[in-house]
Amino acid sequence: MSIEIGDLLDFDRNHLWHPYTSTTRPLPVYPVASAMGAHIRLMDGRELIDGMSSWWCAIHGYSHPALVQALASQAERMAHVMFGGFTHEPAVDLSRLLVELTPAPLDKVFLCDSGSVSVEVALKMALQYQQAVGCPEKYRLATVRGGYHGDTFHAMSVCDPVTGMHTLFERSLPLQLFAPRPECRFDADWDENDLAAMARLLADHHHETAAVIIEPIVQGAGGMWFYHPEYLRGLRRLCDQYRVLLIFDEIATGFGRTGKLFAADHANVAPDIMCLGKAITGGAMTLAATMATTAVATAISEADPGVFMHGPTFMGNPLACAVACASTRLLMDSSWQERVATIGNQLRAELEPARRLSAVADVRVLGAIGVIETSQPVNMAVLQKFFVEQGVWIRPFGRLIYLMPPYIIAPEELSRLTNAVVRAAAMGA
Ligand SMILES: *Cc1c(COP(=O)(O)O)cnc(C)c1O
Repeated sequence: MSIEIGDLLDFDRNHLWHPYTSTTRPLPVYPVASAMGAHIRLMDGRELIDGMSSWWCAIHGYSHPALVQALASQAERMAHVMFGGFTHEPAVDLSRLLVELTPAPLDKVFLCDSGSVSVEVALKMALQYQQAVGCPEKYRLATVRGGYHGDTFHAMSVCDPVTGMHTLFERSLPLQLFAPRPECRFDADWDENDLAAMARLLADHHHETAAVIIEPIVQGAGGMWFYHPEYLRGLRRLCDQYRVLLIFDEIATGFGRTGKLFAADHANVAPDIMCLGKAITGGAMTLAATMATTAVATAISEADPGVFMHGPTFMGNPLACAVACASTRLLMDSSWQERVATIGNQLRAELEPARRLSAVADVRVLGAIGVIETSQPVNMAVLQKFFVEQGVWIRPFGRLIYLMPPYIIAPEELSRLTNAVVRAAAMGA
């Protein structure tokens, strides 16, 4: 290892926090020099094939020329300008695309900085809406177990109460309403009973419930679980019946990952509010959006205080909006359905053999997401090292080893990923 890499790692170990880490017992981190296509190059020269798309984001791979170009030309004009009192082409262009592509009734766009913030914004919209329509007693939120909606406080309160951080922050978290996780699998026959607990919860609590928030079809960080589209159709009916808003958190699922542009499209259901993030910029910048129907926006705007009470400093950041436009256009001009389907078929074929392994509890694939669920929690530190030695970048958590590669990955690169995953599972993970 060269002196520079040693220095860099030393400083990192002594001063930097990484996601969910200890400063006294830090896990190893790998210094990255650059990334291109489906390849991540480490500073020591090793190349890793990317199986994570940097947490669902880098759908076109890294350093795509169209995205680099969009960033460079926007940077020359203006990297940022405040959104209070100003507007600009990148924000308008992006919002035009989002209004066009998302389910029809969603036609108001609130641009913000990250997924968690877009969830905060969505929840605030729901609470302000219920006050506006004369139902201030509807102030709680309902959701299902096994969800993940971000790390900020209100977002945390609707994450799974066990794997989320509820115990740790108990005293500061609002207490929300939880139905069990939808159990009926995506491709199983629909079982009407799956919705019964949510129906009961809303029957009992609708008078105090502002909104239901849920990740449509795919629960991501809360368990990589795929459930039946009929659940969402039933949920839509319940929300309408009880005048409870329906919020879809499409931060992980949006932009083609599940085989549809948005996971809501599997059920042909439109929410009242929808959160987008992660792949919105193709992974180049942090950006998120909260979309709302005209009905929600109008109610909020017509009641006291007459405005929606949120406005981040970096709202509508032009660099992020410009690269989001480029990424979304690139996606729409590509044969992404075919690519996602091809990746899905290969994942299915190559992960299937792992089902026989004693350490494996389940194998499931949807769109360009492949999951091996193990019977016991994996040893993340050991597995991470094993994967890097195999030349692949895969980051398991809990009992989940999963792949969500960039859509541009080549079949032989994907095979290297699936091989490594199956070998890890065979070693007992
Ligand atoms: C990642 C994620 C979030 C949080 O987004 P951040 O950008 O990390 O704040 C919220 N909801 C879902 C479904 C996510 O996958």
